[in-house]
Amino acid sequence: MKLNVSRLHHPVTALGPGIRAGLWVQGCTIGCPGCVSRDTWDHGDGTALEVDDVLAWLAGLGEVDGLTISGGEPTEQPAALHALLQGIERLRRDGHFAGDVLCYTGRDEAEFHAAFPWAADLIDAVIVGAFAITEPTDLLWRGSANQRLIPLTDLGRLRYGPFLDERAEHPPLQVTVEDGQVWMIGIPRRGDLRRLETALRSSGVELEEVSWRPR
Ligand code: SF4
Repeated sequence: MKLNVSRLHHPVTALGPGIRAGLWVQGCTIGCPGCVSRDTWDHGDGTALEVDDVLAWLAGLGEVDGLTISGGEPTEQPAALHALLQGIERLRRDGHFAGDVLCYTGRDEAEFHAAFPWAADLIDAVIVGAFAITEPTDLLWRGSANQRLIPLTDLGRLRYGPFLDERAEHPPLQVTVEDGQVWMIGIPRRGDLRRLETALRSSGVELEEVSWRPR
């Protein structure tokens, strides 16, 4: 079983508690205006990875506090995600993974559970709702005020319960450079990207192709 992947990231500290692994799936047909991850929209892009290879990558990271799944839209690959999350349960049983699983989706709660009817057994918390550019928020780990953080398991309630209404004046943003590309992890607030481009330009760095504008 193969999963169409945009990127694997580690460490991820800006989306979920602790020091985490990040799986960004490739492909999203929702098309939220203002999406900063347009590079993950096209199902024809990305890399088809064997689910077993993703599991081996996760197990090989050693101790992580969790896995954040984002994208891209995870519900557009239900069979591959199901296989992956069943594999993560096996890693847990065998002592190779002790973290939580947090999943982002641009679908609403009912659509998410319709696509992933097994979610409450395999995903500890979900952040539901399409990004709404007209509803800015300072809610932690969320991009717009309509998005809701919902714990699904006991571990999810333990880890995420304290953060349901947590706000962050300066939300965490990570920037990494890999293979000559700059990757931003986290949810920028309105104006952050313009400020980033301006700051880089004043230092002589011109961003040629960015994921928050059409190609
Ligand atoms: S914000 Fe998420 S759900 Fe919306 S278009 Fe972008 S990747 Fe898709």
